Amino acid sequence: MKNLVITYSDIYLNWQLGAGHPTNPVRAKLATEMLVAQLQERAAVVNPAPKDKRDGDIAILKSVHDPEYVDQHLAGTNIGLWFENDPYLGEAGLAMFQGTVRAVELILSGEAQVVFNPQGAKHHATYHRGAGFCAFNDMAYAAMALKEAGLKVLYIDWDIHAGDGVQHMLRGKGIPTISIHNGSGYPSDRDLQSMDGTRRPIIDEEELNYNFNVLDGDGDDYFMAAIDEARAIIDAYQPDVILLAAGADGHTGANNLGVDSNYTAKGFKYAAEMVAEMANKHSQGRVIIGGAGGYQPFKETPETWALVVSTIYDTVTKGA
Ligand SMILES: [Zn+2]
Repeated sequence: MKNLVITYSDIYLNWQLGAGHPTNPVRAKLATEMLVAQLQERAAVVNPAPKDKRDGDIAILKSVHDPEYVDQHLAGTNIGLWFENDPYLGEAGLAMFQGTVRAVELILSGEAQVVFNPQGAKHHATYHRGAGFCAFNDMAYAAMALKEAGLKVLYIDWDIHAGDGVQHMLRGKGIPTISIHNGSGYPSDRDLQSMDGTRRPIIDEEELNYNFNVLDGDGDDYFMAAIDEARAIIDAYQPDVILLAAGADGHTGANNLGVDSNYTAKGFKYAAEMVAEMANKHSQGRVIIGGAGGYQPFKETPETWALVVSTIYDTVTKGA
C-alpha cells in the first residue's frame, strides 16, 4: 500500500496577505496535522521546495506563465491584489506551485497514487497575472505536464468560486474541465457562470468544459446532483489521472466571503467518494488534490480537506 503524500512546508505560512485577511495558510498546516494524526505512518509529508529544485521549478513556472510576471512576482512586486516588495510572499507563491510540481513527479514515477497539496489549486491565476488570492496556476501546469507525458487527464473543481483560470489556460489543449460553483459570485465569468440567478449549466462540448452552477443556500442536495453529473462525464472520458480542486469554501457557516452555499460534510464526503470510485475504475487510483479556497481556517476548512483527502486515499488504497 502506498502512502498518502502531502506536499507541505512551513514556508506556506509566509503567504500572509494582511491582518484579518480571509486567506490564512494555517489551514494547510492544520489539515496536514490532522491527516498525519489520522493515518500515522501511512502519511508522508514531502518538502515542496527543496533548494536544489528551485531553478528547475522556476523554469517550469516560466513555461506556464509570462516569464516577466514570474520574475516580478519572485522579486516581491506585481503581486497584484496585495502587497508590493514582499519577497517572502513571492517565495511562498513559488513554493505552493512547487508542491504541485512534486505531486506530478510522484505520480509519473509511480511513487504515489494520491497526493495532496493543501496550498495547491490556485485556480484563478491566468497566464499574465494572479487573481483571487492565486499567484500561479499549478493545476493548469499539472494538466499540461501529465498530458505531455502521455496520460489522459481530467480536472474537476468544487471550490465555490468558478475555476476560471484553469479553464482559460487549458483552452485548446483538449483537456476536460469540470467546475461546480456559485452561479453569480466571484469571478463573474460568463464563460463558466450563469450570472442570471439560475442553475443553468454552461457546457462547451468542443472545448470539453463542463460548468455547473449552484445558488446561494442550495446545500448538499444540489451539490450532490452536480457531482452525479460530473461522475457521468468522468466515467465517459476514462481519465488516466484526476486533478481535483477541493475548495472547502462552499461549507456552511460564517467567513465564506459572502457566499452561503450550505454544503456540509455529507456533501463533501459524497463528492470525495465519487472521485475515488472513478479513480479506481479508470485511473489506477491516481488523484492529485489541491486545497483551493477555504476561509474557515481553524476548523471547517482543514476538517473538510482532511475528510475529502482521507476518503479518497482510503477508498483508493482499498481498491474498492
Ligand atoms: Zn473559492
